Amino acid sequence: MNAQQLSHRLTRVAHHVPKGAVVADIGSDHAYLPCYLVLNGIAGKAVAGEVVRGPFESAKRQVQQEGLNSQIEVRLASGLDAVHPEDGITAVTIAGMGGPLICSILEQGKDRLPGVERLILQPNVHAKSIRDWAVANNWSIVEEEILKENEKIYEILVLEKEQTPISLTQQQLLMGPKLLEEKTAIFHEKWTRESDQWKKIVASMESTAQTMEIIEKKQELVEKIQLVEEVLQRENS
Ligand code: SAM
Repeated sequence: MNAQQLSHRLTRVAHHVPKGAVVADIGSDHAYLPCYLVLNGIAGKAVAGEVVRGPFESAKRQVQQEGLNSQIEVRLASGLDAVHPEDGITAVTIAGMGGPLICSILEQGKDRLPGVERLILQPNVHAKSIRDWAVANNWSIVEEEILKENEKIYEILVLEKEQTPISLTQQQLLMGPKLLEEKTAIFHEKWTRESDQWKKIVASMESTAQTMEIIEKKQELVEKIQLVEEVLQRENS
């Protein structure tokens, strides 16, 4: 992978960035994504934010190597602290982290979001936490995508700010409102895998002491299995 040739996962993240956007890529690591966006005329300008010095240095080298110093600013900063009001950022990408970490970056950096029209988020796990955050903060889910790369399944969530409160069902929060409309083969594979895994955990919990904690955890998993199976069985019938 390099700035000209992104991985399939990052290419699909790039696909959701509107043409002409001013982008902040948070947790940019090597800065391949912002370099690709500028090199391909998708973004005019970008900020690459990175909290760890090693990746920050490698992002700086990458931007320099591509001759993009005047279009991409690389900043050593935590989360949305990398976004300054004068940047005029219109789209934020956060990819390759867990859903809860992405949520904490959004939550802690809320004051940097006015003016941002679109969030393109690619959690490696726990996409539900992002949907919970979206509902709590009036961001609607306008697009979702599910893809497979090197045997791993990834979800991409695209959020846009809403003025009116939004609501989602438990099933939509867990599995994704747009993904539920399409129910692709990869979606099927992901939820079959997850529900098989949860069933194994529930079975193993049967043979341990039934403390309140275990009972509650088991109940939570059983409810999730039911939500998923309802969808998978609807598909098979
Ligand atoms: N976004 C790239 C991708 O999707 O391939 C890199 C993903 S890499 C696994 C996650 C990066 O996020 C790491 O370089 C890490 O240092 C950075 N990171 C983690 N927490 C961060 C935070 N709060 N602010 C900025 N960067 C963060």
